[in-house]
Amino acid sequence: MGLASAWYLAQQGLQVTLVDRHADVAQETSFANGGQLSYSYVAPLADPGVIGKLPQWLLRADSPLRFRPRLDPAQWRWCLEFLRACNDAQVRRTIGEMLSLSYLSRDSLDELLAAHPLDFDLIRTGKLVVYRDPAVLAAAAPMLDWQRSLGADQQILDGTGCVALEPSLQAVGGELAGGIYTPGEATGDCLRFCQGLKGFLAQLPNVRLALGTNVQALVGERQRVVAVRTDQGDLPADAVVVAAGMFSVRLLKPLGIALPLYGLRGYSLSVPLDAGMQAPCLSVTDAARKVVYAPLAQHLRIAAMVDMGVSRADVDPARIALLKQQVAETFPQLDLKHAQAWAGIRPSTAHSKPIVGRAGDFSNLWLNVGQGALGFTLALGSAKLLVAQMIDENPPIDPSPFQLRAR
Ligand SMILES: Cc1cc2nc3c(=O)[nH]c(=O)nc-3n(C[C@H](O)[C@H](O)[C@H](O)COP(=O)(O)OP(=O)(O)OC[C@H]3O[C@@H](n4cnc5c(N)ncnc54)[C@H](O)[C@@H]3O)c2cc1C
Repeated sequence: MGLASAWYLAQQGLQVTLVDRHADVAQETSFANGGQLSYSYVAPLADPGVIGKLPQWLLRADSPLRFRPRLDPAQWRWCLEFLRACNDAQVRRTIGEMLSLSYLSRDSLDELLAAHPLDFDLIRTGKLVVYRDPAVLAAAAPMLDWQRSLGADQQILDGTGCVALEPSLQAVGGELAGGIYTPGEATGDCLRFCQGLKGFLAQLPNVRLALGTNVQALVGERQRVVAVRTDQGDLPADAVVVAAGMFSVRLLKPLGIALPLYGLRGYSLSVPLDAGMQAPCLSVTDAARKVVYAPLAQHLRIAAMVDMGVSRADVDPARIALLKQQVAETFPQLDLKHAQAWAGIRPSTAHSKPIVGRAGDFSNLWLNVGQGALGFTLALGSAKLLVAQMIDENPPIDPSPFQLRAR
């Protein structure tokens, strides 16, 4: 979010300083995510169907969701907001709002790549979501009609059709009820994308990269931020964009701004693609297990799981063992011996919509946070929407669904 925001601000001719605590960009949540540019799969996690599934998800050891209750008011407030968002009317509204943002992102990526070619293992072969349970596939159909009416191009396939499209699914072909294929979806390597953007920014005379610089606080004076306090000294600023993932919460708290973000830990495996290994060529999602597979140039990236109630991006060996078992059941031909495990914390709002706009009453403080499970997908659209608001230009889409609301 920070890189994309810096890019569009720099395109306006503004003087931009990009501050990050690491020596390189994308060393936290954007490092090894699922690689999905999932423009049509923007449905919120908070869905009425989730409530019925919660008991089994919470009790089963092999559940995609693990919940550790904490004596933490932020956790309970977030969970209450999540449950409140689990209604059909809100889900439909959110999908419409999120599609407007994701399609803006898709168009922005096309526009960026046309002017600035960038190799980040982009593959536009579409996404196939496979279902084992016919009832679950049937239940997905009405939402498909709704999404179609908003511009999504999606087709339903039977099990044989899924294997014909993605032959690496052969081992589970008999178990598949069918799938939904979305030709417009893509995959790519988020780290490489971020490093490419950094390279573009580094060539611009109006951009300074302050990497290896830890932000300690925002210095506020009468509803304005006058400087960013870092371990290298204060950086005076006319305007500040906070895009620090979950750390944004701690940064804004002293200014009296309560960001409604909660961290949802997830995991990925990067499996080296050896010659002759029959790996998926399409982006595949195993709907029942909530596992996504993205073919990158050198690796197959596999991502899954939501752990609630953890604050560190630690790899839990038990969760990785479970993920490997689930992968082996679907793609037994994959060699997982050298798979690289990774964990990241998705900075998530309860309704799954990011916060892209002004920070409360602060006139020059801006937020680009809370993209949750879709930060790679939504990055360019979010940044474009943010910058239009910052420079007081007609926004490309309605910004109101993405504003920070008073709680
Ligand atoms: C397992 C998993 C799979 C995912 N799969 C997908 C996917 O397939 N598709 C998709 O679209 N999204 C996916 N996501 C979500 C996506 O990765 C995130 O939404 C996105 O990376 C968030 O980007 P960000 O810029 O908000 O946060 P980050 O990438 O974490 O960036 C925040 C930056 O702020 C810096 N920072 C923080 N604190 C400070 C400080 N005090 N001083 C200086 N710098 C600081 C950090 O160093 C970091 O570089 C996935 C996430 C996970 C965990």
